[in-house]
Amino acid sequence: MIPFSPPKVYPELFDEILDSLQSGWITTGPKTKKFEENLAAYAGVPNVLCTNAATSGLELMLRWWGVKPGDEVILPAYTYCATANVILHCGAKPVMVDIGDDFNIDPEKIKGAITPATKVILPVDIGGWPCDYDAIKAIVDDPAIIDMFRPSNDKQEQLGRIMILGDAAHSLGATYKGKRSGSLADVTVFSFHAVKNLTTGEGGAICLNLPKPFDNAEIYAYLRVKSLHGQTKDALAKTQKGNWEYDVIEPGYKFNMPDLLAALGLVELARYESETLPRRKEIFERYESAFRQEAWAELPVWQSGEARSSLHLYLLRIKDIDELQRNRIITEIFNRDVSVNVHFKPLPLLTAYKTMGYRMSDYPNAYRQFSREISLPVYYDLEDEAVDAVIQAVIHAVNIVK
Ligand SMILES: *Cc1c(COP(=O)(O)O)cnc(C)c1O
Repeated sequence: MIPFSPPKVYPELFDEILDSLQSGWITTGPKTKKFEENLAAYAGVPNVLCTNAATSGLELMLRWWGVKPGDEVILPAYTYCATANVILHCGAKPVMVDIGDDFNIDPEKIKGAITPATKVILPVDIGGWPCDYDAIKAIVDDPAIIDMFRPSNDKQEQLGRIMILGDAAHSLGATYKGKRSGSLADVTVFSFHAVKNLTTGEGGAICLNLPKPFDNAEIYAYLRVKSLHGQTKDALAKTQKGNWEYDVIEPGYKFNMPDLLAALGLVELARYESETLPRRKEIFERYESAFRQEAWAELPVWQSGEARSSLHLYLLRIKDIDELQRNRIITEIFNRDVSVNVHFKPLPLLTAYKTMGYRMSDYPNAYRQFSREISLPVYYDLEDEAVDAVIQAVIHAVNIVK
């Protein structure tokens, strides 16, 4: 069976973990700090805070921004549930909008969804393909939309417009107009969950890129405290001689990343541009040259003059089929010992959101893309022969069903 997304295991990971264990630092300490610095340099942002998941990072930033009951946050209907759940946890209303044919939130639809209660736009770089951030920025900077904005605290007053919080769970290493993911929005959050391009098992990172007069270094220092119970002294600082005294300035969260996981991240980041992305690109190219021959195949966009995907998901679509045919094709692919997936089931199809009143019929393009979509395996250890086996399984399955 060809798996969908197994982790890569190699000796450098063991060495770095062993180093952590032997140093005595297994929770948040020097390796987490180093991983944050390396991520900041890679993404091209002033400060990065690591967390135990992207979900925690997104919620921390919504809380920091003061999102509360009565507020609205705009997100695509086509994403993983985490994007909506963090909004709900803050007591705010997720305002879902439809997507474009590239699976990403449609900026035109964002415009129509803005109200005086809108506090955040939360775009998602689906599959690693960056959203059109210039179009989204133009919306929040539009004088009529700025006029509508109702700040309810000092930070919102200071920015004076809707904040753009990027869900970049898929897009580490993607570029848009010469800039890397992380530096494309006010704040951007990466995920290092087990199936993501770069994994620490579980983990996330917040890239702080707020415009002046915000002081990103100061915000980083505050968020560090907020992400660890609001405690003013972390474990590392407390090891200094006699330095036991601490305070808790607010009831914070337990969102910190331990050094044992940062150790994995350090090793993974060091090989990301030189090994991970090039191999993923070869696999994308192999899929592309095979499926380009098939009239029924609709290929995903992953590079253009302006943008480059992080090649997280190969989102193949089959033309002119319905959801049931897609599901039968998937069964046939599995029958040939190949694992595939669907990314994502649009949120309005899921019980939690359906119950809240969201309707699939309000997001026709999200449904149209979902109903024809099959995600193919992409990972470093997937050999060319296995890629060819996936291609053959897909072609065979489509021919049986279509
Ligand atoms: C994986 C994922 C998340 C959540 O990431 P975690 O690190 O598991 O919290 C959020 N958004 C999207 C689009 C994802 O795919």
